[in-house]
Amino acid sequence: MISERLKLQPVYKEFVRELKQGRLSNAYLFVGEDSLTGEAMLSEAEAAIMCPTYGCGVCKACKAVFANSHPDVHIYNREKKMNVSDAENLVVEAQKGGWQSGTRIFAIYNAEKLTPEVQNKLLKVMEEPPEGAVILMHAAHESALLPTVRSRVKLIRLPLWDTRSVCEELEERGAPSGIATVASRLAGGSFSLALAYAEEEGLEEDYARVFDMLANCANTRDAAKYVYSDIFTAEKIRRVLDFTEIILRDVLADKAGAGVQRYTYNRDYDLNRIGDGFTAGGAAMAILRVNALRSMLEVNIAPETVGEKMLFDILEAKYKWRQS
Ligand SMILES: [Zn+2]
Repeated sequence: MISERLKLQPVYKEFVRELKQGRLSNAYLFVGEDSLTGEAMLSEAEAAIMCPTYGCGVCKACKAVFANSHPDVHIYNREKKMNVSDAENLVVEAQKGGWQSGTRIFAIYNAEKLTPEVQNKLLKVMEEPPEGAVILMHAAHESALLPTVRSRVKLIRLPLWDTRSVCEELEERGAPSGIATVASRLAGGSFSLALAYAEEEGLEEDYARVFDMLANCANTRDAAKYVYSDIFTAEKIRRVLDFTEIILRDVLADKAGAGVQRYTYNRDYDLNRIGDGFTAGGAAMAILRVNALRSMLEVNIAPETVGEKMLFDILEAKYKWRQS
């Protein structure tokens, strides 16, 4: 569970430590691109504030928080987009006393989607915080919030996760291990992204096909064979670029002798074949080229053209840099 992983992280422990010291701020902004981590942090923070023992998970207050039924925890912008009248309602509610406790929590999910009008309304509560009212927000990026809002919140950055945690989380949720491995490596530390990948159809097959293509594409004649196969289609091309990039990153790491975490897994034989003939400089150049191809897709260049260029660019990077 993401919540359990989060509770082991310094960011959560520090939040609870401050609570125990009686240092509860009246507005928090948790920032992190992974929406699932953000949601988990908000609900764990709600429980930690309401629970007599700071988030035990089993008491009446904790259970009410996790069941979304705590009378003093108000949730905004999660199932329904928060509008100006919701923000006005929040301001009114914040002035009232709590039902069960002296504290009322106003938790705002997906705060990067709040309009400036809504944010301006919320400022009132932040500028003159009513006794016992606490605002908790999660946003993917802090830049989406007005500077006036940002200056009145305590900003806490959420962690990105290591590949192993993401992989284990996917397996716990029932993903087959091959898919969990690929998806977690693609996701760059985001549970949300990894889950989205894991649910994509044909992920593992396409991953294997990209390996196969890169291992077998030794010259331009080989490349032509792949250009009109069904791997470079509008729906698959981005994924092919992603896969190619992570494979080339491992080639680069091998060539450079860098002891970094590998992105691919159990593919040493294929990796050696793909890396054959590459220098570290060539691999680095190939990665840059593949990355640059994404902008061709933005301007609607045909996927098979992008695919063809990808294969030729990789070959060119390999041969050009070998000689110099
Ligand atoms: Zn509790």
